Amino acid sequence: MAVARRLLLLGSTGSIGTQALDILGRRNENGGCEGAEPPTFELVGLSAERSWEQLVEQARAFGVKRIALADADAAARASEAWTDGEVLGGAEGLVRLVIESGADLVLNGLVGSAGLGPTVATLGEGIDLALANKESLVVGGELVMALAEATGAQIIPVDSEHSALHQLLAGEAPGTVTKLVLTASGGPFRGRTRAELEDVTVEEALKHPTWAMGGKITVDSATLMNKGLEVIEAHHLFGTPYDRIDVVVHPQSIVHSYVLLNDGAALAHLGNPDMRVPISYALHHPDRVDVPIRPLDLAEVGALTFEPVDVEAFPALRLAKEAAMAGGTAPCVLNAANEIAVHAFLAGRLPFLGIPAVIEETLARLPAERVRAFETLYEADRSAREHAAELAGAYAA
Ligand code: MG
Repeated sequence: MAVARRLLLLGSTGSIGTQALDILGRRNENGGCEGAEPPTFELVGLSAERSWEQLVEQARAFGVKRIALADADAAARASEAWTDGEVLGGAEGLVRLVIESGADLVLNGLVGSAGLGPTVATLGEGIDLALANKESLVVGGELVMALAEATGAQIIPVDSEHSALHQLLAGEAPGTVTKLVLTASGGPFRGRTRAELEDVTVEEALKHPTWAMGGKITVDSATLMNKGLEVIEAHHLFGTPYDRIDVVVHPQSIVHSYVLLNDGAALAHLGNPDMRVPISYALHHPDRVDVPIRPLDLAEVGALTFEPVDVEAFPALRLAKEAAMAGGTAPCVLNAANEIAVHAFLAGRLPFLGIPAVIEETLARLPAERVRAFETLYEADRSAREHAAELAGAYAA
């Protein structure tokens, strides 16, 4: 009988969370109790921002006794409606859920810098982390990696490009990798000029050509900020200097990333774009399990194409790289301003090109400061949100 790993799932009603539950549901159905089988999972907790009805439904379906909702009102409603377990509320509730979980693995599928606190709590407890929340590393990269190092907790990326890189780098000795190249789909507006981006709508921005994801990351893909955040994420995860991380646009999203080695070899990771693959990899690492997705047929795909990023039309990637090079609080400010701007765009309060404009101006107002502790980051995040909200309001007016 295989040992069950205790898994805590944060952000279980979101895109990553529901796909993770889909994988777990299938594994449990198929039993998986042979001696040599990879471990099955016991879900020890679930969290959501405010979708309490769906969260309670998930808790019932998976026999979970402890849940948390970031929104205090939603938490109050859930505890009225659900009496089979305990409901925690607020940011502190989320951290308590992590610290008191006794989990072997936490999957962080939260959106935005709200994911940093739970990431810190997880690694601080020495619990392994399957990380889909790239903002944790964008905002707190140095401190987060140092914390993992200190407690011995592993970070396994869920982001598809970084999952690809994690697999590609696994067999390589240090010093042999000369470049990491992240692929970008280019999003729904690939090929458009800056002028052609002026009047694009929320609906158009949410039509991602290859990946099915949540709203925030889909808009990030349309601006290419997502790739900027991913460059910073890769820098921290793999300890790679920025001048050794490149981005190339690859509209088919079949090549998820590739690495260049010192002997001239280039290794690429390929697959049909389906987030269940990197989610499953992160959950089961170092084992692999069956995931029922369509096998890759390159003859059917026909052509794989690549092109450089149009930095004129999509300035977000440049902004991210500049913030990355500035270091300190700059990536945190970049991320917070982006979250505010994307939120304003999704609410119809800011035009598409207003997103990079708000971010650039927020960065200009708040020069990078040295990060001494997580408190520095929380303060920079708060301040950047205030400035960005003011700028977004002025931009729209
Ligand atoms: Mg990605």
